[in-house]
Amino acid sequence: MSKVFSVAIDGPVGAGKSCVAKKVAERLNAAYLDTGAMYRAVGLYMLENGVSLEDGAAIAENAGKARVDVRYEGREQRTYLNGRDVTGELRRPEVSLASSAVAKVHAVREALVNRQRELARGISLVMDGRDIGTCVLTDATLKIFLTAAPEERARRRFRQMNGRGVQSFEDVLNDLIRRDRNDMSRAESPLRCAEDAVELDSTSLTEDEVVERIVSLLMERTGGERA
Ligand code: C5P
Repeated sequence: MSKVFSVAIDGPVGAGKSCVAKKVAERLNAAYLDTGAMYRAVGLYMLENGVSLEDGAAIAENAGKARVDVRYEGREQRTYLNGRDVTGELRRPEVSLASSAVAKVHAVREALVNRQRELARGISLVMDGRDIGTCVLTDATLKIFLTAAPEERARRRFRQMNGRGVQSFEDVLNDLIRRDRNDMSRAESPLRCAEDAVELDSTSLTEDEVVERIVSLLMERTGGERA
């Protein structure tokens, strides 16, 4: 496929967006951007600097001090906070909650959305998050809204965390429900399915089946050959 294309994948916590997006990008030889990692890096900054996550004004005031960069090692995204590689710290449960708190703040979203659009300019890529189809890439070639039942999403998350044993299944499920509620009820770019997005429920699909559907849908849109 020679033409530049973009695939926007949005959906609730644990729907499998990042694994699917990564595989789709690989299949299509496109770049992949995990935008959640950028919100997580800003959340980590607030945690490390003692900024109250309840205080939107303080988060907005400090947002400019958290410089987030993204680099690639092969196909692997590494996320930097003020020059430090924080990729390994971003999955901690307290960072997850911090990311959903900072994601409500206009100044944070504005800076990150601008950066995401800059990174997307002129290249073929797959981007996943909560507002990609509705805000960041409104003219994406293909928009997917990926969902799954909450218990199934919590099961997947729990399985992913296996071995690290930081949270019980109930804690994972409760965090997920809380973050979904935050994401859907916030005033700034709430999580919702774009009017022109294709909704995919992955509850009873394997990751590879979801990847296959997305690749086929993109091929239909672009009239391209199967990748
Ligand atoms: O996708 P992930 O769980 O890593 O995202 C972390 C948090 O960042 C989400 O809970 C959500 O609040 C926020 N986020 C967002 N917009 C995006 C990506 C993530 O608001 N495009």
